[in-house]
Amino acid sequence: MSQARVVTRFAPSPTGALHIGGARTALFNWLYARGRGGKFLLRIEDTDKARSTDENTQAILDGLTWLGLDWDGAPTSQAAAAARHIEVANEMLANGHAYKCFATQDEIQAFREDARTNKTSTLYRSPWRDVADADHPDLPFVVRVKAPRDGATTLNDEVQGAVTWQNEQLDDMILLRSDGSPVYMLAVVVDDHDMGVTHVIRGDDHLANAFRQNLIYDAMGWDKPTLAHIPLIFGPDGKKLSKRHGATGAAEYQALGYPAAGMRNYLTRLGWSHGDDEFFSDAQAREWFDLGGIGKSPARFDTKKLENICGQHIAVSENAALLHELEAFLDATGQNALTSEQHDGILKAMESLKERSKTFPELIDKAHFVLTSRPLEMDEKAAKSLDDVHKGILTELTPQLQTVSWSRDELQGIVATLAEAHDTKLGKLAGPLRAVLAGRAVSPSVFDMMLVLGRDETIARIKDATG
Ligand code: GLU
Repeated sequence: MSQARVVTRFAPSPTGALHIGGARTALFNWLYARGRGGKFLLRIEDTDKARSTDENTQAILDGLTWLGLDWDGAPTSQAAAAARHIEVANEMLANGHAYKCFATQDEIQAFREDARTNKTSTLYRSPWRDVADADHPDLPFVVRVKAPRDGATTLNDEVQGAVTWQNEQLDDMILLRSDGSPVYMLAVVVDDHDMGVTHVIRGDDHLANAFRQNLIYDAMGWDKPTLAHIPLIFGPDGKKLSKRHGATGAAEYQALGYPAAGMRNYLTRLGWSHGDDEFFSDAQAREWFDLGGIGKSPARFDTKKLENICGQHIAVSENAALLHELEAFLDATGQNALTSEQHDGILKAMESLKERSKTFPELIDKAHFVLTSRPLEMDEKAAKSLDDVHKGILTELTPQLQTVSWSRDELQGIVATLAEAHDTKLGKLAGPLRAVLAGRAVSPSVFDMMLVLGRDETIARIKDATG
């Protein structure tokens, strides 16, 4: 079956950085398009000049880039298309679906006060709706849409199902203000139409807007996109996710060191499901993602789950790619770049570092033994485990380490034999040995460290600490 080309879009207002909810909306649109060979477009809704900033736009682009959500073509600016929005309002005027309204603010105010007194609807009903052009005064005016006043409108939403509104609840909303500028609601529809958007996937806080926007599609006789209004994200307490719950910006999660693949996986699962699958690859997400899997009730953000998924992604990442992402993390968070020795050391150690690391800071912490250099500083706990008795035992190790073949089995063998000779257990020697090799009480296994450090460095560290 041939499928019409899918075009989705993410349309953020640059009045703030990229919020985690916006990131998820972008991700859903991206997955839907990418899974169907479609296009994913980015439109910056910058019509609110007072609140839109270039810094916010940049932060949004950076956030999407970090998450690996690539868009097709250049991002477009909604404000730049104002002339086209005005043109469409004028077409609606010409075809009788809109009209000029000359009512003053005072008149509108008086209408509302009367309505309140009479307990009738306060939705403004302009007396200019059916006045012929010939009878128009030479005064400032706004352009309003002619909304139907009776009957009902049903929108079929892929997430919310069939949603019906009584048309008497729709007002003749303004399309062009008295200074001739287009309103946001008009701009969205014109842009979606002109960009060929086939699927509008966005937060359900826009559901009411969909009914107003629908008036413009009807007036222009345009094809309507498929709608999917996604429930908002809640915090663990069931209230709308906010600062009170902790980090809410995509950049904050980047700074906390969550890997992008884990973040994508977690955000995909946040409000969408595919059976019981929790952990999946990008390719699986692209293949599986559909609108039918989006839940009707708000998903709750769960940091533990995020960490668990991120840990699994780190564990299966390819070593060089993971190191590359780690270096990008250091750069993005303004930390020192790795020296080439540190780079090589981490790459060598990666297999053991990536086990049970949920974030990049955790991974870096584990990598301490390769990042540090001789003579090692020892933390208090490590120093405590290295008493004189153990120092003595460890000195016996160095001559054997000179000649042993440098493999896990051989190394394990000589340390075990040494422990036995001193009537102790291998586990009892691990602490002091760890202290000597890492300067810390927590690190990857001593044999992993010895294999990464190599013979000379291992012996040198033991001598430093025991000599
Ligand atoms: N600019 C709107 C927002 O940031 C999105 C509008 C839309 O997706 O239609 O909430």
